[in-house]
Amino acid sequence: MARTRRSSRRRVNPRFVALCLTAALAAAGGAAWWFHQELPGSGVELPDYVEEQLIPVNEWSRPGDELKDIRGVVIHYVGNPGTTAHANRNYFASLSNGAEGTYASSHFVVGLEGEVVQCVPLTEIAYATKERNVDTVSIEVCHPDDTGEFSQVTYDRAVELTAWLCREFRLDPETEVIRHYDVTGKICPKYYVEHPEAWDAFRADVSAAVKAMEEEP
Ligand SMILES: [Zn+2]
Repeated sequence: MARTRRSSRRRVNPRFVALCLTAALAAAGGAAWWFHQELPGSGVELPDYVEEQLIPVNEWSRPGDELKDIRGVVIHYVGNPGTTAHANRNYFASLSNGAEGTYASSHFVVGLEGEVVQCVPLTEIAYATKERNVDTVSIEVCHPDDTGEFSQVTYDRAVELTAWLCREFRLDPETEVIRHYDVTGKICPKYYVEHPEAWDAFRADVSAAVKAMEEEP
């Protein structure tokens, strides 16, 4: 008698279990859907030429805050002639100890040989463009000298990467590819602030690259 009572008390209605499982799966699915909807940069497959070298999450250069909107690409110059993409990536990583008291980073750095290093994932904000950190992807570009002009191989890669971002996130190169200068007035990227015609040419080259990508089979 006692055994029967105990077992009946422990018996769980299979329908209840099924209901709970269904509810849990629905909640997980809903959360996954919501996450995907919230972050345009999630699940994006990067071009082959991008080397992922993420900097550690830290207060100074990778806060880990979600990038909820991608409404533009911001072009910068590193301002440190002759330095490589890896050197600039390592500089951002080195800020993490707080000794410099500097907040700075970028999603990508395009190097002197056309190499590209990714420092911050597209699902998170970088510290590059003040109030537009919350809705833009940033690209720092290396340059050989003080003029800040990009070498041809670097320029071409910056155009290619920007065009890829425009296509991926449905951005208009005419209005949504901007300079750091356009947001804060900082002379960055220097050569392309001092030579507005060179900036117009950059955006025109991005437009042409987007069109070429769209015509690919
Ligand atoms: Zn800048």
